Parts: sequence; C-alpha cells; structure tokens
Amino acid sequence: MLTGHEIRDRIARRETSALEITKRSIDAVAASEPELRAYLTLTPEYALARAAEIDARLARGEDCGPLAGVPVAIKDLFCTQGVRTTSGSKILANFVPPYSATVVAKLESAGAVMIGKTNMDEFAMGSSCENSGFHPTRNPWDLSRVPGGSSGGSASTVGARGVPIAVGTDTGGSIREPASFCNIVGVKPTYGRVSRYGMIAFASSLDQAGPMTADVRDAAIVLEAIAGLDPMDSTSADVPVPHYEDALRDDLRGVKVGIVREFESSISGDAAMSSLYKEAYAALVRLGAELVEVSLPHAKYGLATYYLIAPAECSSNLARYDGARYGVRVSDGGDVYQMFERTRAAGFGPEVKRRIILGTYALCSGYYDAYYVRAQKVRTLMKQDFDTAFSACDVIACPAVSCPPFELGAKSDPVAMYLMDYFTIPMSLAGIAAMSVPAGYVDGLPVGLQIAAPAFEEGRMLGVAHAYEQSTRFAWARAPKVGAA
Ligand code: GLN
Repeated sequence: MLTGHEIRDRIARRETSALEITKRSIDAVAASEPELRAYLTLTPEYALARAAEIDARLARGEDCGPLAGVPVAIKDLFCTQGVRTTSGSKILANFVPPYSATVVAKLESAGAVMIGKTNMDEFAMGSSCENSGFHPTRNPWDLSRVPGGSSGGSASTVGARGVPIAVGTDTGGSIREPASFCNIVGVKPTYGRVSRYGMIAFASSLDQAGPMTADVRDAAIVLEAIAGLDPMDSTSADVPVPHYEDALRDDLRGVKVGIVREFESSISGDAAMSSLYKEAYAALVRLGAELVEVSLPHAKYGLATYYLIAPAECSSNLARYDGARYGVRVSDGGDVYQMFERTRAAGFGPEVKRRIILGTYALCSGYYDAYYVRAQKVRTLMKQDFDTAFSACDVIACPAVSCPPFELGAKSDPVAMYLMDYFTIPMSLAGIAAMSVPAGYVDGLPVGLQIAAPAFEEGRMLGVAHAYEQSTRFAWARAPKVGAA
C-alpha cells in the first residue's frame, strides 16, 4: 500500500483512481484480517461507493481535498453516522450513532475513504487491545504479540499497510505506545488542537485524537485536516492551523533537543533498549541537533496522578451507560435499578469496572481533596516541569515505551499494564504535543522514539521527526510478518 501522499500525488497525475486504491486496500485488509483481527466493523460497500463518487467528482475537475481517495481506518470510539460505534464495549454492541464525530466529518471533507472501524481496549482503557469487549488484535510483526493499545486496531492495520492512515485517541499513551509497537508514526496533538466532539469520552481533560500513519508527512497532512476550533467542543482551541507539511525539515541544524535525565536513568537497566535510544539521539546529533540535558522532577508521580484523574473522569463519563439511554439493555423483570445493575454487570468488562470503582471512590466527599484535587496540583507541577525544560530546548526526545511489543497474556497484573505508559503519561497530563516515530528494532521487534514539543508546536515536532525519519528510514527498513513494508 502506498502512503497517503503518494496516493494523493498519483491520483493528481491520473495514474490511479480512488476506486482502484480503495479496492486494493479492501483486499489487503481482507487478506490480513483473519490473522490480525484489527477491525470491529468493515465498511467495504460504503467505501467503494464513496471512492466511485470521488472519482466522478475528480473527473468533473472538482477539488476533492488533500486526502481524496485515501483509505482510512477509524478507531471505534469516533461516532460514525449510520455505522455501528462500540468503543470496544459490549454495552455499546448495538449502538449506531445518528451523527459523525468532527474528526470523521473533517476527514470526509478532506476526501478520505473510510474502510472500517478499528478494534480497541474497551473505552480506551488499556495498553494491549486485550481489554476489547470483542476480541484481541494481533501485532503484524509477530502474531503472538499485542499491537499495543488502546488504539491497537488502528496501529495493527497501518503497520500491516492495510491502510496508509488511521486515527486513534490518546489519553495517557494510546496513540504513541501502539505506534511504537507496530512501527508506525503516531501523533498525540496538544489538548484542544483537535475537536473531541463525537468521540466517546474516557477522561475528558486528557482525551485527544490524532493521526496514526505510515510516515511523518502523512501525519502532517492528517493533522492539518482534523485540527482546529470547533463550536461543538468548547475545549477546542482557537489557534490557527498551519500548513504542517511546510514545517517538515531534512536537517536539525540549530535545534536544541532535550534529553530527560530521569527517563534515561529509568531505561538504563535494559541494555538493548537504552542502546537503541542512545543511537537515536546520536542520529539527531548527526543531523545537526545539539543535545541538552533537562529534568522532569515530577514525572515519577505521573502514573499515580493519572490513575486518579483518569478513573475519576471515567466514573463520571460512563455513568450514562445504564441501559436506559444507549446501547444494550439487560432486564429480566425487576425494577429500574436492577436493570441498571444487570446491564452494567453484563456490559462492562473487568478493567472498566475497576476504573469506575476506583474513580467513584476518589471522588467521594471526604476523599475528593485528598485524591482528585491533590492529583490536579501535581499535574500543575508537571506542566511547570515542561515549561522549565522547554526554556532550555526546542523539543524533547525520549523513549516512547520501555520495551518492544509483549506477548498476549504477558501482563495479567493491571499495574504491570499501567506501567506501559510511564514515558507517555507526563505529556498527557501537561497537555502538550508528543509523538512516536519508528526508531529501530530490539529482537527484531519495532520500537519508537518519542518527540515532545510545547503546546501547539506540532509543526516543530513533526519537523524534527521528519528529519529523523528520512535519515534513518526505520519505517521501511524491514517488512512485517503480515502485510508489506
Ligand atoms: N494505557 C492507558 C490507560 O489504560 C492509556 C489509555 C489511553 O491513552 N486511552 O488508561
């Protein structure tokens, strides 16, 4: 499968058509799906009809947008009008939204062709896709391993090149960690950069949508297409959206890259991972960057802070799933409270129940100040850590993950799973921009480099990632087991 910009250029030169590309994508996905199971719903009829419509409009000389005819996969927590949207939960197994999320509507007006909705950890809670209420998804690099999560289906299908582009969401690492595990590019934009309207909420002060793509240029194109102020989301920011492709650079002369002292000491015990990251920083230096040491003294409180704030917000957001208003209802007689109980007992999986209970507890009067308010204060300190760090550097480079993709079933202890987001959660709590870009292989399995930038400096971040990607070319260096390079 070509990248999105290659498809754009070939369609512009009339060397191929939206229909031909869409058919190829549908076939590629059909071939890999029995092994990967990256999708919860496939929409081939819709995709073929839409591709034909785009070809007809192009033939009339219309401008169909920067993604005209490009196949895309959508994480199943973006509402899609008329197409089932489950958020990976049995409680929404039959939910068909009456409207589309802003991200979906914007992708459509940019000309993209949706070919399906991707699997995910239930309500985006997890780091492996094993918490899906339906089935796990597998990693195209090794079918015994997880694709990461929660946006695991999106990462797996892009990693296998079933589609060049997908969208995911990241609350504490759910775009960056699966991107690292599947050898793709994943961008978590600044909080407020992209509208959350029509995204099924997990933790509203952290959730953010972003591109998951084969290369950095595609990430730039998709981010420009989906970003911007939306009157339907009061937390979306009124900050102009640049033409991000203009920011892509080929060298890093004059760029100061911060290396986080605390992160380096925590990865130093793993020789293979720490030498991979050392090599990544050396590659940045070869491109002309200057490395400076920075410190994030409160990063060590990231997990504790996140696992109060995210469950607290989730307990509030998920209260709407009671069997009365949305989705599945389980009621074998009894009163309305029994109906609520039975619906939730059957509809929610164990991790979701754990988080609701934890969050409800943290929000109890009497505990609220000790937990939620305190966590918010630590969050402010973390934001200040980043402000100080960025006074000394332009971007931060650091590990995206602490390990390559692990085997299904390997992390049965919830805390072991939570630790997967050690390097990604601080940026989420601070609300800044961060991304993962392929950085090489450990034991033949992909690992990503994380690059973070101040709020609304996605262009700067993508520019650095592009120079690194073009000089190292890890996205193309090897082919996965399933799919093509
Ligand atoms: N793995 C983290 C969690 O389980 C982050 C998930 C996410 O970013 N949606 O909450």
